[in-house]
Amino acid sequence: MSAAEKPAIDLPLADPHDNLPQPHAQTATGFHRFLEVACTFLFPFALLVTCWPVGTTLYNQELLWLGAIMMPLAWLASDAFTGTIHWMFDTYWSEDTPILGKNFVQPFREHHVAPKNITLHDIPSTVGNSCILGMMLQPVLLLWAFLAPDSVVSALAIIFISLTFFGAALTNLFHKWSHADDNPGIVRALQASGLILGPKHHKIHHTPPFDTYYCITCGWMNPVLAKLRYFRALERVLGWVGIQPNIER
Ligand SMILES: [Zn+2]
Ligand SMILES: [Zn+2]
Repeated sequence: MSAAEKPAIDLPLADPHDNLPQPHAQTATGFHRFLEVACTFLFPFALLVTCWPVGTTLYNQELLWLGAIMMPLAWLASDAFTGTIHWMFDTYWSEDTPILGKNFVQPFREHHVAPKNITLHDIPSTVGNSCILGMMLQPVLLLWAFLAPDSVVSALAIIFISLTFFGAALTNLFHKWSHADDNPGIVRALQASGLILGPKHHKIHHTPPFDTYYCITCGWMNPVLAKLRYFRALERVLGWVGIQPNIER
């Protein structure tokens, strides 16, 4: 090709992100799928079985109101906790990292390329892995409840940890709903009330430079953590010990 025929600008090859992957439901198979389904059903019962004796302890001592205070605190804690996990997998490691890469980094990174994929996951695929972890945690908390039957501090701690993990287990469901177009009225009402993550709120995370509003339970902690520059502070601290982000913003 002569110089005259050459295009004035060398056009880059098509960005691979122009071709978004087709939405697909990432369901586990075999024994993993069985565990996801079984634990999705069992975890709420395990939570009730754990909270019943400690709730009785508080009731007997006329301190049930203290247990009620744990609810919003646990909601805040689960928002901050899941936000930190989300930031971690959005920011560090790669899809090739052993164990973590395929199971955690890849779904988080894919979510930014094809955000609607999450809406195709069924309930066990959405919350199952969290419920499996919950089914490991609840027996430990139940044992704690039986070892300290009259302790108010233990009762409050057990309720707080249980509800924090309950919020964390539901986070992926709230996140899925924030991307869905056809939510039932009750979900839209919960989103509008701010009790769970709303689509407008979460859109801030999906807006360049994609480095804020990681919290996805209710989002209450997002403006607080953004104001505190919490995630940048964590990145600086990790940078001091030689751990650098693995993304381009
Ligand atoms: Zn993200
Ligand atoms: Zn999202």
